[in-house]
Amino acid sequence: MKGVIFSGMRPTGKLHLGNYFGALDNWIKLQEEYRCFFGVVDWHALTTGFESTEMMKENIIEMVIDWLSAGIDPEKSTLLIQSHVPEHAELHLLLSMITPLSWLERNPVVKEQVRDLDLKENMGYGLLGYPVLMAADILIYNANAVPVGEDQSPHIELTREIGRRFNSLYHNVFVIPELKLSPTPKILGTDGRKMSKSLKNNINISDSPEIIKTKIMSMITDPEKIRLTDKGHPEICVVFDYHRIFNKKELPKIEQKCRNAQLGCVACKNHLAAILSKSLQSFREKRKYYENNRQLVWDVLNKGSQEARKVTQTTLVEVKKAMRIDYVQ
Ligand code: ADP
Repeated sequence: MKGVIFSGMRPTGKLHLGNYFGALDNWIKLQEEYRCFFGVVDWHALTTGFESTEMMKENIIEMVIDWLSAGIDPEKSTLLIQSHVPEHAELHLLLSMITPLSWLERNPVVKEQVRDLDLKENMGYGLLGYPVLMAADILIYNANAVPVGEDQSPHIELTREIGRRFNSLYHNVFVIPELKLSPTPKILGTDGRKMSKSLKNNINISDSPEIIKTKIMSMITDPEKIRLTDKGHPEICVVFDYHRIFNKKELPKIEQKCRNAQLGCVACKNHLAAILSKSLQSFREKRKYYENNRQLVWDVLNKGSQEARKVTQTTLVEVKKAMRIDYVQ
């Protein structure tokens, strides 16, 4: 084994292509070489979704069904629910003492969320502390690497800074983790912005072929290409970007035909929808199995959370010892 991996996802429901190509695909490959911990980070979901928690349980199961159907193997990796491993919260509290507020206030990810979700003065203390909780999630496993999408890279940098600060204030307890990006770290949504559930521009990996087709048909292409006979500019077209990821084999042909006005946007989109649906077919079939065996998914999470605690409890002992707050009389 090359080392330890931790990564998490917020349980906000079914996964989209951004989650898959930005992170999950990398997780599946890394579980062969690393000791992997994959977390359902439900407390993170509360930082913005604290008002509507009625779907949390369902969202957890839907997301983990996606993980398992895509190829996460509980025999190789430990799957856990953050709130079932309470040491994450205790470490978060301790790390919050040593984290300067200025580090959190300059965090571009939170600024973006406040803007996208129109939070302004409704931003909670928990959302500001998101990177501290994430640092606790990662450092508690002494992870060497964290496979996430590009949007998370400022958070990984903060995790490293917090870990280094702890190590220099007290003792070298924490491994300082590296960011591990996938080859496709930023997937765009159907409107050309970063794919995200909150922007409603997502294509889910579990979407039916009909829904995939409708979503792809709604995508905006090169505005100068209105008719088949207009020459296109693939470099500014999101549909072409998708062909780049899902249809590598035909890419040169599609680019040439688009530029030479031999391929219309409707046909190009239809072709993309068919290819994407086909590539997700076996995933959809596996998904049906877990949908009919939900208890199996809970069993994996319960067992994984217990297993994770063996590691997190050991780390916390080390942390308290280093901080000299391990008093017993
Ligand atoms: P969401 O943004 O949909 O709520 P999360 O914030 O829980 O999803 O992210 C889960 C993982 O998916 C993270 O590693 C994140 O970097 C990755 N990710 C999310 N959106 C994208 C995207 N559009 N492109 C690439 N990776 C993404």
